[in-house]
Amino acid sequence: MSKTIKKIGVLTSGGDAPGMNAAIRSVVRTCAYHNIGCVGIYRGYQGMIEGDFKEMGPRSVNNIVNKGGTILKSARSREFMTPEGRKKAFDNIKKAEIDSLVVIGGDGSFTGAEVFNSEFDIPVIGIPGTIDNDIFGTSFTLGYDTALNTVIDVIDKIRDTASSHNRLFFVEVMGRDAGHIALNAGIGAGAEEILIPESDLGLERLLDSLKKSKLSGKSSSIVVIAEGDKIGKNVFELKDYVESNLPEYDVRVSVLGHMQRGGAPSCFDRVLASRLGVRAVETLLEGKSNFMVGILGDKITLTPLEQAIKGHSEIDRELLRVSEIMSI
Ligand code: ATP
Repeated sequence: MSKTIKKIGVLTSGGDAPGMNAAIRSVVRTCAYHNIGCVGIYRGYQGMIEGDFKEMGPRSVNNIVNKGGTILKSARSREFMTPEGRKKAFDNIKKAEIDSLVVIGGDGSFTGAEVFNSEFDIPVIGIPGTIDNDIFGTSFTLGYDTALNTVIDVIDKIRDTASSHNRLFFVEVMGRDAGHIALNAGIGAGAEEILIPESDLGLERLLDSLKKSKLSGKSSSIVVIAEGDKIGKNVFELKDYVESNLPEYDVRVSVLGHMQRGGAPSCFDRVLASRLGVRAVETLLEGKSNFMVGILGDKITLTPLEQAIKGHSEIDRELLRVSEIMSI
């Protein structure tokens, strides 16, 4: 193993996601295991610019594997997008003798890591942490599995009230550019229709499907809609449109919002975070840089950061067909 890495800085950046704490814990403890230092950097890149650091040992991450959010806090930093901001960040990490970074976040955070590496030659490794699952090079990002479980839990509850009142519910879930949450949670929760950014269902087809659903004897229905669906109407406009075309329907809207980011991470996310943290530190110790650690199949893999940033994570189109068959 390379002797050049002596102290790793770890930070969480962008939107928080359940499992980030488990990943921080894993990075800290893997550093301790290999007898190297670890420094927690607070508030993402903004904390780097302000020198908001704390040395972390294995006991500093007790009792966080089960906690949502991130103990290091997260932030979006405009200043880090300027050369002056990044120079300040570099001066601070140099002073603290941090010689490499593990960045837990989304593709924006990875872009920041790449730029920083190209300017100051600091080795960087990314861990994908975002509930949207929209990162190329990994089948799962941290927080996605937990968010799915949160969403189906809520939809199950909405179904109770929907069926008691013969109502149609439009449930909006997160996913501005990617329909992974809507598609998988929609199937898992038995939605009649799923509207996602990757596929334009079309208004006519939505009306047809709802008509058919009524004729087939369903008394209530759930439609799951990703924030960024392609139909081009927001969820409230969609409600008005459906009610004016199908007056037999009493449509209610539920926007799940930030609750999808919260809560204790699922077992899957905790195990994934632990595996990715170990691999991130050991990849740095092997003398490598500019990779994202991820999971493909059941194997932990390395994807060049550049590909992870530029590549597009595709939805599984077979799931659209499964959803269609299930809603018969
Ligand atoms: P999420 O998926 O939750 O949005 P993200 O990591 O993509 O997470 P962003 O807000 O896009 O979140 O990026 C996080 C931070 O990364 C930004 O606030 C900024 O500090 C840094 N960053 C993003 N793009 C760049 C860039 N081109 N140059 C330097 N820093 C950047």
